[in-house]
Amino acid sequence: MTKRSQNKRSFTPTNWKERWFVLSPENLIYFDGDRQSGRRKERGRVELSRVVAVECVNSVVFQRDYVFQLCYLSEEKEQYVLYIAAVSGYERDEWLGYLRRLVAANECLSDWYHEGAFIRNQWSCCKGGKDVAACTAVTWTINHNNNPPGHPTPSPTPPNGPLSDMMPHRKVVVALYDYNATTVGDMSLRKHDELEVLDDTQEHWWKMRNIKTKEEGFAPSNYVRDQGSLQQYDWYLGDATRHRAEVLLMNQEREGGFVVRNSTTNSGIYTLSVFSKHLPRSRPQVKHYHIKKDQEGNYYLSHHIKCPTIPELIYRHQLNPAGLCTRLRPISQGREAPTTAGLGHDKWEIDPSQLNLMEELGSGQFGVVRHGKLGSLHVAVKMMKEGTMSEDEFIEEAKVMRQLRHQNLVQLYGVCSKRRPIYIVTEYLCHGSLLNYLRDNERTLLNNTAVLDMCSQVCAGMEYLEKKKFIHRDLAARNCLVGANSEIKVGDFGLARYVVDDEYNSSGGAKFPIKWAAPEVLNFMRFSSKSDVWAFGVLMWEVYTCGKMPYGRMRNPEVVEMVQSGRVLEQPRYCPDDVYSIMQHCWTPVAESRPSFSEILIQFMNIADE
Ligand code: AMP
Repeated sequence: MTKRSQNKRSFTPTNWKERWFVLSPENLIYFDGDRQSGRRKERGRVELSRVVAVECVNSVVFQRDYVFQLCYLSEEKEQYVLYIAAVSGYERDEWLGYLRRLVAANECLSDWYHEGAFIRNQWSCCKGGKDVAACTAVTWTINHNNNPPGHPTPSPTPPNGPLSDMMPHRKVVVALYDYNATTVGDMSLRKHDELEVLDDTQEHWWKMRNIKTKEEGFAPSNYVRDQGSLQQYDWYLGDATRHRAEVLLMNQEREGGFVVRNSTTNSGIYTLSVFSKHLPRSRPQVKHYHIKKDQEGNYYLSHHIKCPTIPELIYRHQLNPAGLCTRLRPISQGREAPTTAGLGHDKWEIDPSQLNLMEELGSGQFGVVRHGKLGSLHVAVKMMKEGTMSEDEFIEEAKVMRQLRHQNLVQLYGVCSKRRPIYIVTEYLCHGSLLNYLRDNERTLLNNTAVLDMCSQVCAGMEYLEKKKFIHRDLAARNCLVGANSEIKVGDFGLARYVVDDEYNSSGGAKFPIKWAAPEVLNFMRFSSKSDVWAFGVLMWEVYTCGKMPYGRMRNPEVVEMVQSGRVLEQPRYCPDDVYSIMQHCWTPVAESRPSFSEILIQFMNIADE
């Protein structure tokens, strides 16, 4: 790390030097020296028992990222500050964690510190002179008695008292991904940028200020996370299911490759999933471990290592398996940047001259779909055949659809509606339609994890639509798409309402998707989230048969008769009983008695954890 020189007599701006830091239970010692020869000379040390605060530094002060400070007392009880810049937020948090644990029992700990630094004869944070008391409340609980050091947790209550009133409440977030702004008023982000949120009233686009560059603008809210949240780590997958973790890790085949996710069975608990090829007498597989917490609040996976934070625990197991099946190794491919709700906070209409159109991807109900690029962003462009849709109504509705954003829905980016034919511009998925993908990959797909993962991904996308009270009306494998890492997304939601074609719109029409239709749709054209659930059962059947046509060669009237008499599709050969029973649930004749998508999702999770 680099250390700011201390120049103890005058607080003039000084320089930064690379130093080798060593932390012992008593001291933080820093050395200089030759990296290659390994010869190092001690340049100084801070006795940890004299430390009064260990805190981050407002990064603007030094125009440097990841700076933290150690405030300590000299033998003469004079207070000094050591400023250290780590190379990443991860490294800084690690050092903060270790240092705080070692100093937690210090009697001299202070409740206050200066968030800024003393530059040009004043503190940059409170503008006070050299002797002005610290102005910012410390961010972790201080243990003033001499109990054994516990885990320093963030202070649950905001600081009070006259000094804290001077500090306005700020929400500071960290960018998780790079983002290139394309619209006036929007702002580009670089991974790890620290940003102050100025306006979070729009769900998907927040106005922010880059703390370092001072630039202001809108950026996607799903590209940032609160400082200190696990989301900032590439290995954290949030609510991903057990199958998703398994599929991702099996695809990567990296010994020790791991992810951490929220446990599907116990809320508030985390699970570590690890891939290993070298388990005794077994094929490569993914093992799952619950991350437990002891009474002192320390996290542990095995009794060998206990740490106050999950990142610290992960880091320690990267050095040593310590009871796990293998040492943890970060997976090479980081998380992909997610889609954004539209291409800018206020951008909806896309100028077709900015679209670079490439190969044809296929054609469907509305016409040809082409692969395109908008700057560096891959997109799919549906070129709507004239007369196939009620365009004006669709353009109005699409403004609502653009606000729908979920990792398992094909993202609508915008439209080119100023000339005909209109284009609908959506996210591009490299493996095309799920139906073709199933048919092309029959041999490799028939393992339970991969197909269960597909079904639960579709279910997660549909659960989101259900919550938003948005009905799909044409859910089927042909309307889902497959992206990198076996990611499945539901597409064409709601479009069915704008089709101008009697053959598609009435249940007697040749193009009407009878084989996916619930009885109440066949009888009364009554669509609801529950009729989507019926269609989802049929989609599961398509997945488990690797893309067979439901009801085989039966003609539509025969299918209608079969459904109305209460008979359903047979159990696919490779479909386990518990999965088939979910399909049967979806095909409950009375709509109201069918499970909701959130109930089905829970059923999937229970299958996974058996
Ligand atoms: P559709 O008109 O939605 O039925 O699309 C026709 C075909 O185009 C699909 O079967 C896919 O093969 C392809 N396609 C449609 N949308 C996309 C997309 N967003 N990404 C990749 N391929 C797509």
